[in-house]
Amino acid sequence: AKRSGRGKVVVYTREMEEAAKRTTRVEQALRRAVAAEEVEPHFQPIVDLKTRQVIGFETLARWTDRDLGFVPPNVFIPIAEERGIIGPLSQLLLRKATETARNWPDELFLSFNLSPSQLVDQNTAEQILGIIAKTGFDPRRLEIEITETGLMTDPASAEKIVSELRAVGIRVSLDDFGTGQSSLGRLREFHFDKLKIDRAFVSSILEDKPSEHIIRAILAMCEGLGMDVVAEGIEEEGQASRLVQFGCGGGQGYLFGRPCDAEATMGYLREAYRS
Ligand code: C2E
Ligand code: CA
Ligand code: CA
Ligand code: CA
Repeated sequence: AKRSGRGKVVVYTREMEEAAKRTTRVEQALRRAVAAEEVEPHFQPIVDLKTRQVIGFETLARWTDRDLGFVPPNVFIPIAEERGIIGPLSQLLLRKATETARNWPDELFLSFNLSPSQLVDQNTAEQILGIIAKTGFDPRRLEIEITETGLMTDPASAEKIVSELRAVGIRVSLDDFGTGQSSLGRLREFHFDKLKIDRAFVSSILEDKPSEHIIRAILAMCEGLGMDVVAEGIEEEGQASRLVQFGCGGGQGYLFGRPCDAEATMGYLREAYRS
């Protein structure tokens, strides 16, 4: 136990010590992996729910470390943020992802996740624009996904970055809508091109009435605000047909395809564009 500032006693348990050690191991391995360019973008299809045609892909980071094995993004992304690695990691991923996506048919968009800490860093917009200029990727084909948490830390800073991106034609979508500290006020202050309905609502759409009502309300709201909608985490046919019935435009989930590496994604596209 240690004594902190005002005489409060802070207890460090063995578990906390172990967790801190694990975090540091992941941090060190991740620094090495980013330098060696070993973190890879994978791509998950997003479809037009009505026609089932692919309209774009979301970039999802994948990392298998030599020593640690597969580390899921839910583990390494928060550590990258906490330990100041998210900038270089994100730049590596965006470069690789746009190098891949520039070979896809022109009408397909690429969406890319930004972490909350990147929305307080005023270099973020410039870095993104620098990378796509270098790889020659059309900004109008790029979409940035941000969460409400990312907007809340420093709304003025986030606003500035978002408007710099939108100025060159990059679209901005609000990710994980309906989770965390959602506030409808945010939709008035910011202009989003798209909203992504969180998997939590989609997975329960067939089982409970509240989820159904919430989804229908979100869809009505987006229609009024002129925003596109993508429902996330669609795993079953029944969920997809219900969402179409409610007028949801876009869908993403294992039903349509899991995240795949660049090569498998090319195969998927060859198949999709064969007819
Ligand atoms: P997210 O942005 O909400 O991404 C969607 C997550 O849902 C992905 O998990 C995806 O694989 C998963 N998913 C997609 N369809 C289904 C489905 O039908 N069922 C289920 N159960 N899951 C589905 P993943 O790849 O593990 O990523 C987790 C989170 O890590 C992401 O959530 C995102 O917040 C973060 N992340 C991943 N890649 C990046 C990145 O490059 N940059 C940043 N900043 N964050 C990333
Ligand atoms: Ca996302
Ligand atoms: Ca999401
Ligand atoms: Ca999420």
